[in-house]
Amino acid sequence: MAQHLDDANRKHVENFGDKGKLVLSPPSKKLIVVTCMDARIDTSSAFGLNEGEAHVIRNAGGRVQDSLRSIIVSQRLLATNEIAVVQHTDCGMLTFKNPDLQGILAEQHPEEKDKIDSIDFLPIPNLEGGVREDVQWLKEHPLVLKETVVTGWVYDVKTGKVSQVA
Ligand SMILES: [Zn+2]
Repeated sequence: MAQHLDDANRKHVENFGDKGKLVLSPPSKKLIVVTCMDARIDTSSAFGLNEGEAHVIRNAGGRVQDSLRSIIVSQRLLATNEIAVVQHTDCGMLTFKNPDLQGILAEQHPEEKDKIDSIDFLPIPNLEGGVREDVQWLKEHPLVLKETVVTGWVYDVKTGKVSQVA
C-alpha cells in the first residue's frame, strides 16, 4: 500500500550525501516553524529550510495550541528561540466549526459522544485573525520562553508567497 514510500526513499538515500554527519543539536537557525499539514505546502522549499536548520511542527491548521508539547521540547532541550506561525489561504480548518465535525463523529460513534464533545478541533474562524490569535497565545503562555521572537505569517497556496501579519 505504501510501497511508494519505499520507492521514493531509495532515490532519497542515493542523494543523501553527507547529511548523515549532522548530529543531534540545536537547529542552526534556532527556529521553529508551526504550519498546517496541508499537502500543498512544501516547507523546505517555501521557507528555505534545509536539514539541520529548523524544527517544523505541522498539524491541522498550523495551530500553536496543538504544538505546545513540541515547542517546549524544542525550546528547553534544543535551544530554539524564535517561532514563526504560518497558516494559509484555502485552509480546510476555515471551513467548519467544532459542532460540525463533532456531529459527524457522534453520528458514526454515538457511544463516544462525551469524548467527542470534549475535543476542540481548533478550527480557524478567520485567517489573519487566527494567526494573530496564535501569536498572542504564544506570547502570553507561561511555558513559552519570554524572550522568544514570535511572528505570524499567511502562506498563499495560489502563489506560494508568504506575507507577515503579526
Ligand atoms: Zn490548512
